[in-house]
Amino acid sequence: MIIKDNLADIRKNIAAAAGKAGRDAEEVVIVAAAKTQPPEKLQQAIEAGVNTLGENRVQEAQTHMKSLAGVNVIWHCIGHLQRNKAREALNLFAMIHSLDSLRLAHKIEEEAKTQGKKISALLQINISGEETKGGFSECNLEETLGELNRLEMIELQGLMTMPPFFDDPEKARPFFRRLAELKKAANQAGWYRAPLEQLSMGMSGDYQVAVEEGATMVRLGTVLFGPRS
Ligand SMILES: *Cc1c(COP(=O)(O)O)cnc(C)c1O
Repeated sequence: MIIKDNLADIRKNIAAAAGKAGRDAEEVVIVAAAKTQPPEKLQQAIEAGVNTLGENRVQEAQTHMKSLAGVNVIWHCIGHLQRNKAREALNLFAMIHSLDSLRLAHKIEEEAKTQGKKISALLQINISGEETKGGFSECNLEETLGELNRLEMIELQGLMTMPPFFDDPEKARPFFRRLAELKKAANQAGWYRAPLEQLSMGMSGDYQVAVEEGATMVRLGTVLFGPRS
């Protein structure tokens, strides 16, 4: 049971990072990044104690869900969501980490109204400003949150970011710190109708640093499942 051992190591590392920052490790949810993983591995992770799976694509999520029918697990969308998949996404996911444009937000709102079903989401912020990455600019955060305030079916719970890849996780720290600052600023100013509680940040290479900086959700693939096939 390699996945079980990996999860135990991850939990130890999260506890150490949380301790360093004077935080409670219980605040940190492990979202297992399920992309390309066979159902057997997902099943092993769930048996080891993982309760949240993160999916990048609607179609792969549907395949995984079929294979794991009857298994008690929460599904999150962590990858870019196409607007024409908003309807399916509402049915599949408890949370969308990757709310990355107002057009997508309006489409989700429209579908959610049709279905009479609210959805939790995180605002994806492109802190690095890399053109290849999706997400909102931090410069427009006040306006963006003002706009989202008017979408009653979307319940924003926090912020998400993906820093550039670095070999040295310390280099990611300023990006995580910035996301935490943005959350704090938004809450202090009351830009959104409810307090933003969640920070989805940190992947296999840098999750300890992210936890030190306040992550409440870490999205982990490789470090949990091993290299993707
Ligand atoms: C794949 C993926 C992850 C996990 O990546 P690892 O480096 O394997 O931990 C996290 N977040 C998103 C959005 C991903 O696509």
